[in-house]
Amino acid sequence: MAVQTLCFIGAGNMTRSIVSGLVKSGYPAQSIVATNPSAPKLEAMKKDFAIQVSHDNLAAAQTADVIILSVKPQLMEQVCQGLRTIDLSQKLIITIAAGIEAGRYQDYFAQPITLIRTMPNTPTQLGVGMTGMYAGADVNPAQRQLCEQLMATGGETLWVDQENDLNQVIALAGSSPAYFFLFMESMLQSAQAMGMDEDKARALVQQAAIGAAQMVKQNPHLSLSELRQNVTSKGGTTAQAVETFEHGDLRGLVNQAMENCIKRAEEMA
Ligand code: NAD
Repeated sequence: MAVQTLCFIGAGNMTRSIVSGLVKSGYPAQSIVATNPSAPKLEAMKKDFAIQVSHDNLAAAQTADVIILSVKPQLMEQVCQGLRTIDLSQKLIITIAAGIEAGRYQDYFAQPITLIRTMPNTPTQLGVGMTGMYAGADVNPAQRQLCEQLMATGGETLWVDQENDLNQVIALAGSSPAYFFLFMESMLQSAQAMGMDEDKARALVQQAAIGAAQMVKQNPHLSLSELRQNVTSKGGTTAQAVETFEHGDLRGLVNQAMENCIKRAEEMA
């Protein structure tokens, strides 16, 4: 990949995840700068990844080839307005913010820009992330490829054809690690309530989750339903548990959670 100067505006959790993937994959740390108002986060980024850090968004973005907008959506307008004096015509802008539509950034910056919207998730920090990406017709193939190569250092990537599909990406991959954590947390609490030691319960649940995910990935010819049925003998222990979930309408609840997640993303647009 051609080395470009990358400027991350905002040095929070997601920037850490992406930078970690980049640096681990051999991207030169001296070509990465991250900005943040508070010193402790920047010091930690500098110590952990040996990247450049700055409190000055404008100065850092000015010299970058690629600007990655990584602040909370509610701060985005103000942050972009602060960069308006930069000539952005030769720069690629990548945003990781949920919800905000591509067209709004043009207004925020008050000039024509080339922008790609991406939706990574936190497992990016381990190289097993998933990033959904959307680029309009104005983004050229080289810019698309660059974005894909950068995001692929954190795991897998997927282009969506319609901007609206990014909201599905949020529900399926951006927010979903938390759903799986909640499920595992519930199992762990249940085991503890039945008297099992927390460490032992965690060892069991985490390996089962990793194993289940690997089985899904390594058996693309099997549907999820077939995989489930393969471990569910009629009248057996698994069947008892699965029937309990079905009886409690787990599917309906998941559907409602996904819909609410997408609704929230639409509200932020
Ligand atoms: P975060 O709060 O951890 O990080 C945001 C950082 O921006 C903070 O360190 C904050 O101090 C800094 N900041 C605030 N004002 C600033 C300014 N004026 N200039 C520069 N930095 C400033 O949030 P996060 O979880 O890393 O989320 C960042 C973005 O990533 C959000 O837009 C979110 O929608 C998106 N996102 C998050 C996830 C996730 O799983 N957390 C997944 C995909 C996308």
